[in-house]
Order: sequence, then C-alpha cells, then structure tokens
Amino acid sequence: MTKYVYFFGQGKAEGSSLMRNLLGGKGCELAEMTNLGISVPPGFTITTQAWAAYNRAGHEWPEGLWEQALENLGRLESVADAGFGDPKRPLLVSVRSGARASMPGMMETILNLGLNDATVDGLAARTRNERFAWDCYRRFVTMFANVVLGIRREVFDAELEAVKERLGVKTDPEVPAAELRKLTDAFKDIVSDRTGRPFPQDVKEQLRLSINAVFDSWFAKKATEYRRIHGIPEDWGTAVTVMAMVFGNLGETSGTGVGFTRDPRTGERRFYAEFLPNAQGEDVVAGIRTPLPIEALQRRMPAIYEQVLAIADRLERHYKDMQDIEFTVQDGTLYLLQTRAGKRSARAAVEVAYDLVDEHVIDQHTALLRVRPQEVNEAIRPVFEVKDKASAIERGRLLARGLAAAPGAAVGKAVFDADRAVEWVRAGEKVILVRPETSPEDVAGMYAAEGIVTARGGRTSHAAVVAVGMGKACVVGAAEIAVDEHRRIFQVGGRVVREGDSISVDGGTGEVILDTIALVEGKLTPKVREFLSWADRYRTEGLGVRANADTPEDARRAREFGAEGIGLVRTEHMFFAADRIPIVREMIMAGEQTTRRSALEKLRPFQRDDFMGIFREMNGLPVTIRLLDPPLHEFLPNPKEFKELVEKRSRLETLGINPEEQARLDEIIANVEKLREANPMLGHRGCRLGITNPEIYGMQVRAIMEAACTVAEQGVRVEPEIMIPLTGTVGEMKETYEQTKRVADGVIAETGVAVRYLIGTMIEVPRAALIAAQIAEHAEFFSFGTNDLTQLTYGYSRDDVAKFLPKYLDMGLVPNDPFSVLDQEGVGEMIEMGIQRGRSRRPDLKIGICGEHGGEASSVEFCHRVKMNYVSCSPYLIPGARLAAAQARIKERQAGGADYRA
Ligand code: PEP
Ligand code: MG
Repeated sequence: MTKYVYFFGQGKAEGSSLMRNLLGGKGCELAEMTNLGISVPPGFTITTQAWAAYNRAGHEWPEGLWEQALENLGRLESVADAGFGDPKRPLLVSVRSGARASMPGMMETILNLGLNDATVDGLAARTRNERFAWDCYRRFVTMFANVVLGIRREVFDAELEAVKERLGVKTDPEVPAAELRKLTDAFKDIVSDRTGRPFPQDVKEQLRLSINAVFDSWFAKKATEYRRIHGIPEDWGTAVTVMAMVFGNLGETSGTGVGFTRDPRTGERRFYAEFLPNAQGEDVVAGIRTPLPIEALQRRMPAIYEQVLAIADRLERHYKDMQDIEFTVQDGTLYLLQTRAGKRSARAAVEVAYDLVDEHVIDQHTALLRVRPQEVNEAIRPVFEVKDKASAIERGRLLARGLAAAPGAAVGKAVFDADRAVEWVRAGEKVILVRPETSPEDVAGMYAAEGIVTARGGRTSHAAVVAVGMGKACVVGAAEIAVDEHRRIFQVGGRVVREGDSISVDGGTGEVILDTIALVEGKLTPKVREFLSWADRYRTEGLGVRANADTPEDARRAREFGAEGIGLVRTEHMFFAADRIPIVREMIMAGEQTTRRSALEKLRPFQRDDFMGIFREMNGLPVTIRLLDPPLHEFLPNPKEFKELVEKRSRLETLGINPEEQARLDEIIANVEKLREANPMLGHRGCRLGITNPEIYGMQVRAIMEAACTVAEQGVRVEPEIMIPLTGTVGEMKETYEQTKRVADGVIAETGVAVRYLIGTMIEVPRAALIAAQIAEHAEFFSFGTNDLTQLTYGYSRDDVAKFLPKYLDMGLVPNDPFSVLDQEGVGEMIEMGIQRGRSRRPDLKIGICGEHGGEASSVEFCHRVKMNYVSCSPYLIPGARLAAAQARIKERQAGGADYRA
C-alpha cells in the first residue's frame, strides 16, 4: 500500500527537508523543524503523490488515503490530548496547501476546522473564553463557505460590518460573544440558503471536503497564473498539511507574526518582521489588518521576542539561507508554523549570497548558484534622477509616503484593477497598479505593471511579498491614499488622480509622486562587481561574454558591465542618424556607379570615426564588425513619406512648374518601386548585397581597416574581426572573403601598419549550418545569428510572429517564444551540427552567438554545453550572461562533466 500520509509531532517526524517533492515546501519544513526540536504544532502531511492519484482518477481519493488520514488523525488526537469532534475537549485543525515551490497565498487554507454547534461550547469551556470560541466559529464558517462551498467572502464580511455599525464599534475585538453567536447563526443560514443544505456538523465530513478543496485549489485561476509567470510545472500538484490549531487570537498574551531573517529589500542583516497581537495568521498575510513593527512584540513579550530571534537565527544557519518564518504566540507560548527560503529583491539576492560567503556559511559556488542571472541584470536597472525627483517634491508633487516594500523606480499610468493593467500593457502602455490592497487574484496585473501601490497592508502583506519576488517596485500601506476602484480614481490630500494619470513610484523610499520622474542608468555596486568577479573566475575555462554594441557609448557601457569584447557591431545602425540617412538614400538610389561611389565616399569618414571610437573604447579586446546586412528598403522612404512624394510630384505636374524637380521625383519614385520586395527578409540583403554591389562592402572594409590602422599607430591594441552576414553557399563565402581580404590588405599596405584581423561569417541560414565544413575553409570564425536562424529554421517571420505566437503559447504548442529562449531541440541541433562540422575542418575555429539568445540564461547554458567560445548580448544583459556562464560551468562540474576544453 502506498504511504500517502506522513506524521510529525512530539519532537519526531516521518518526513524531512529532503522530501520536498513529496511533502511540499510547507510539509517538509514542518517535519524538519519538528526533528530539530523546534516548537511546532503536531500534524500530518498528505503527499503530492496522493494529489496526483486523486487528480488522475478524476478527483476520486486513491485507495487507502482516507484510512491513512484517519489513522494519523488518531495519532494527532493522542499527541494533542484532544478529540476531533469531541464536545468536551475538541481538537481543531488547520488544513493547508503547500507545493514544492512556494506560491504565496495562491492556494487555499482553512483554519479552525472541527468546530460545530457542540464543539464550540467545549472550546469555550476549555479556554474559559466564550467570545474567542464564537469568533473562531464564525471565522471557520466564513472560510469553509468560501473555500469549499464557493460563497463569496464579502457576503459574510458585510454582515460583520453591519453588526459593528449597529453596535457603534470600529474593530472586530469589540464585538461581544453574544453578537458573534448570532452572527454565526446568520452565517450558517446563508450557507443553507445558498446551498440548500445545512452547514456540515460532521467534523470528518468537514475535513474530507476541505482536503478536496485544497487539492483543487491547485487549479484556481490565480494559482495557474502564478505558475505560468514563475514557470512552475502544472503536474507538480500540492501536498496538504493538517495540523493542530494554535491560537493567536486568545487575547493580549497571544498574537501572530511574520519575519525575515534579513531585510528582503536590501539584504541587510537584521530581523525584518511584523507582529499583530490578538489575531490569527491569515489576518497579516491577507493584509486585512495592518500589523505592527516587531518592536511591538519586544515591548509586550520580551522573552518571546528573544525566542523568536534565536529560532530565526538557528533556522538560517541550519538552512544556510535567509528564511521567512511564520509564528504564533498562544497565551505566552511560541509556535513556529512555517519556514521557507525568503523571497527577496534582486539586490538582496546578491547581497545575501555575498554576505553568507563572507560569514563562512556557504562557499562561492553555492552563492553563484543562488542568484538568478536576471537578478544581477536588475542590479543595473534604472533609478530616478536625483535632481528631477527632488524638484518634483519641491513643487509639491509628492502624493504620499507609504512603506518601502520592494525597491525599484517605476513610472507609469495609474490603473485600478488587475485586468485593466494587463489590457493596457498589451496595448503598449506602462502602468502602475494602485489597489486598496492586493490579493492573489491580482498577480497577473502585478506582473504586467511596472510598479504597485497599496493603501493598506504591511511590509509582509501579499503585495509586498509578491512584488519583491517579481522584482517590481512596490509601496504598501500608503494610508493617505483613498482608492475608489469603481470610479477609477484615488484621492489624496484634496487631490484626485484618475486612471491614466502618470505617477512615479520609488519602492526604495516609499514615495508616490505625481508625474513622470526621469530615470537614469543604474550602476554596478562594489558588492555586485565582486560577486561577478567570482563568476568570471569560474568561467575562465568556459564561455566568454561579449556585447552587441553599435556606438562608442554602447561599447563603454559594455566594458563597464564586464564585456570581454564586442561580438556584433551592426553597421547599418550607424546609417540611421539624421545626418547620414540622406546620403545613404543617395547611395541606394543612385542609378549610376559613379553617383553611388561618390555617396559611399561621403559615408566612409562617418564610419571610420565610429569604428575608431569603438576600437579606442575596446582597447585590447576583439571587435566583430558585421558588414551591411538588412534589406535596402529599410532605408527608403516609409509608406507615409512615399505617399507625400507621389502627391508632391502630382502637385507640381498639375501646376506645370519646376520640371527639374518633377524629373528628380520621378526618378526617386521609380527607384523605390524597383527596390520594393515581396519578402524583404528573404530578399536582397546580407552578403547578397555585398556581392551584387561590392563597392558597398569595399567602402566598409576600407573604413574598418583605416580606423584600425590609425588607432593602432596611436598605441591602441586592435583586434578587428570582419563578419559577413547571411552566408548560405561556399561561393558567397569565398567571394566575400577574397574581396574583403583584398581591400583590407590594400589598406595595410597603404598605411604600413600591420594590423592583424580576421574574416569570418555569421551562421544564420540553415544551409550554412549544414555545409559548415566547406564554409569553414574560407571563414576564420563563426557567429551564430540565432535571430535569423530561428526565423529560417521555424519558417516564422520575426516581424509577424506576434500574430500567432501568444495563441501557440497558450495552447502549449511551443514551450517558449523561440526568439527569446533558444529552441534547443531544433535550432540547437542546427547549431551543434554547424559547430561540429565547422571544427572538423578548422579545429581552432572561434565560435560565438550574437542573436538575442546570447543574453538568456538557459540559452547561455546551451552555448556552454556545445562548446562555443563566447556569447554576445546587449550591454544590459552582460552581468546576467557572466553569471549564467559561470553557473553552466559549475553545474557541469558538479555533475562530474568532462573538462571544458578536451
Ligand atoms: C541574428 O540574425 O541573430 C543577428 C544577430 O542579426 P540581425 O538580428 O541583425 O538580423
Ligand atoms: Mg541576422
């Protein structure tokens, strides 16, 4: 018989941390803490395997599960010295969800289960607190009705509010026992009215139905959305933990708290926690009541405070990572209800990993594997321009100051509900989601938004925890703000901010400001810099990291972020500047060779200056410069400009004036028509252009080599690598290689400066990967252009893919956007073949990647595995690529992989 249930209690547990997949995060850590001798209420966990069996059988319990649950319930009764359903000494339990990966608040939990019309009196008698007993019962009916029976919580909340109003009281604790009893009766009536059945009095039925509901909550919309955002597989499922209740709402010597062993926003080493006296745990996480700073606990119950601190510290050392704990104090006794690795901001992720190495808790390998590559990229995210922000505040634009819940600078249009946020972002807007408080239903909107503001809730509220995990700027508890969701406005200090108004949010200071504050580039802090230097040390035998950069400024930035060269200069980008485009057009449209040559001669000095700037910035590092690639029509008048040309031409004709201008316009119009292509992406571009118009590549090669020779003479160490785009045949390669070499050697001979250079090619046409061996005979390096290679391998137009890809992703027809995450099985196969065939002919062939995938972590790992020499990506992705490359090497070593270079 499969064992579906694992018990924990009285200092011993059947499970442990190692059983995360089976017991879920919550279940396995409760077991672990029990084994550590930490005070945890006893209970048992139903496995994810049981969930899987239940799910497979169409929501039927697998054989033996119920019997095992009852048997463990029996053990629990004896450990807790209480009886489930016993009217004299009732055992109450909570039923909690818990998947392998933490999904804060996304699935369901039911508290105070085991109460009915008989046991409520037993609870009152045992605790000598009638008010408390009825408070638990009305909470239980609400939760059960909501989670199990699907009745909206608001229905019950409205009743409670009405009672408070009638009594003229503000807070829940002021409602007396007799009123709570009446309220509970009213709640039960609501349930029987709505379901046609009385509220279940059989506690075992309550338990069974609740376990079902928690199992099923895996499929709730919010949970599904959360899994999609965080890439959690659908088939993991959830475990269910049933544990004895402890009560934080037993009076002033009770309460509930949440805390992080380090500050999740900055990583600073201090206990970052909150406490709510006389309350149950869910009150804090749901943001229903705003908790107090942890000092409140220190003042009220100093001994308990010290115990919490000591346990938090012990747990951190045990798990060797920052922990996020939940605890309850019941009448002066402390219980831990949960511990898990704390969600943290990107900045805190690096900070904590670094500090733990410094404190000799973990080694550098572990630290490097703990931080996600995107997180180091976030470390250079933009920040508010200090002067601009100060001046906005001086001008009275500060709307509110709330709690700084998740760092980051965000600017966007105010929106007031999550669906709206998603819609607006789809339409290309940047938004800030403003809510009274957030709930798990809001995750998709939070993910879409640039930043989040809530009027209520503390630093450990749902909004704060989720935003930190998502890397969104977030301000919570901005109490001055009155949000009116229905009218889509918020009011603050007599001012009204409407949907669509621009606001700026500083999640590091808690400020919410009207208008758009300017953003400036972030910088690598000394700690991040050093952390990345560890990464560099571990990837020395592995992948290099270069940048795609088109200007000297880009090159400087790339170097600052740690680039070891430039893997792609797209020379056509240099042609788009306002002072150059007219000359480029002249060159393209020139009917005659001589006119084209003269236009090219005008462009050459521009190109040369750009290259000199880049070479100087990259002194001592290789620079790969790609010759002109895109279809020429990109430089021609756009449809609107073309229409204007035609209109101007006919105007002149009607007026019968300026025949010369008419003739000029005629020529332009005819040329544009001639250059138009049905499929420009598959058309006259790349080396095809260089072959039909050798003077274009000739000019570019001359400019590159003139720049290289000039700066080399001034003492700059240059390593130009001239790259031919879109090669598909050996003939193309051979022809362009020879043509390039002739011009380059000519410049060297003229200047007398012997610059070493390489000529290589992009591999971006599938055919080139197939015939890579022959191509390698005429190419000194390869760079995989995976943007085009993906386009051409799938046959998906890069420019039109958005028309169907979202649907494909929804339907699971493709696992990812293949233009972001390298398709390893298809395009990857093409790459592996290209590498292997290329190196078969030229074993020392230098190979890199310069498509967008070069900055994406899983693709970088792939590049390492197939033994590329480097990846090249946008300067802003370089820190992440450095880390991803190190992680690939470390993982390979841990798996006992062969040495990188055989
Ligand atoms: C590529 O195709 O991957 C590439 C880098 O070139 P481009 O994006 O300029 O076509
Ligand atoms: Mg390309």
